[in-house]
Amino acid sequence: MISRRDLFISGAALAAAGGQARAAGSKNIIISSANGLRATARAMEMLKKGDDTLDAVIAGVNINEEDPEDNSVGYGGLPNEEGVVELDASVMHGPTRRCGSVASIRGCKTPSKIAKLVMEQTDHIMLVGEGAGRFARECGFPSENLLTEKSRLAWMVWKQSLRDKNGHSNWGPGLDAPPAKTTASNELKKIFPHADEETLAWALEVALHPPTGTINCLALNAKGEMSGVTTTSGLSWKIPGRVGDSPIIGAGLYVDQEVGGAGSTGRGEENIRVAGAHTIVENMRHGMSPKEACLDALKRVARNFDNDRERLSKIDLNFYALRRDGEYAGAALWNRAQSPAADGSRRKPRFAVNDGGESRLENSVWLLER
Ligand code: ASP
Repeated sequence: MISRRDLFISGAALAAAGGQARAAGSKNIIISSANGLRATARAMEMLKKGDDTLDAVIAGVNINEEDPEDNSVGYGGLPNEEGVVELDASVMHGPTRRCGSVASIRGCKTPSKIAKLVMEQTDHIMLVGEGAGRFARECGFPSENLLTEKSRLAWMVWKQSLRDKNGHSNWGPGLDAPPAKTTASNELKKIFPHADEETLAWALEVALHPPTGTINCLALNAKGEMSGVTTTSGLSWKIPGRVGDSPIIGAGLYVDQEVGGAGSTGRGEENIRVAGAHTIVENMRHGMSPKEACLDALKRVARNFDNDRERLSKIDLNFYALRRDGEYAGAALWNRAQSPAADGSRRKPRFAVNDGGESRLENSVWLLER
């Protein structure tokens, strides 16, 4: 049993470590991953109207979830290895300290809304797979096809590019059908004559370098209330049922009303191994700035690979942190992403911010350079 004295000592230790509840900031701030310029703007509009912080961030990321051109989240997300889109999402509401999540959910464009319903309508926290889908239907969300033509094409190109050590693919021509096709884009043009060159080049790139992509969005309002959401289609071409960090409370998202919130995008497996979002919030509780807290979590990722740059070069990982006093940061493992952005560039890592005006991108800090 914990005595009053123990409680007093741990409270004093916390205070010495800077762990007292931080003073609330006095203005609305939304941050998100770099794909969240529109999401942060919409979330800010809602905060200005006095809407709840969780409703605001969910409405923000719904833009990405419903956008067929965003191939990393929701509708139009790149599918699993069987061509089926499976989505993951989590939400956390600071004022009530409640959370909800769904993983491997199919047929629903807006998993963030279902995660909130799990939080509100059940006494569970996480629903997965078929059960999550059934729950969504019961809540009135119709079953929809989430695979857009563009994502289906990318999946087909990926299948064409799968080869054994002899260069053979079951999706290529039979041995009796010379000449053998390759996946160079001019050859792909013959296989997919209706696709335009730009789409084919993109499809080949994502086939060869399976992208990840997600949106994390964190909000603080002028009253000091905080919430967060993370939503994703996860790793493209994943094994059906694979779940990354996004729906894992403490990995892809964590919010503690007294301290701040954090979230992540990128290689989910590596984030799960360091419970990134929780680690960052705890770091901030013990006095680190958001930037230091994120870099410390990234150092733990690097340590898991004995700081071996060669193996770490295969990973992209980004953290975002917003402290309750309004200080925030984005941090990336590398100064340049391994996989290109939608426009093919490998820009320095950035994240989106809206503090009441226009949404803007700010530079993230990074741990390693290449
Ligand atoms: N973190 C997500 C996952 O591993 C993917 C991503 O952020 O790109 O599922």
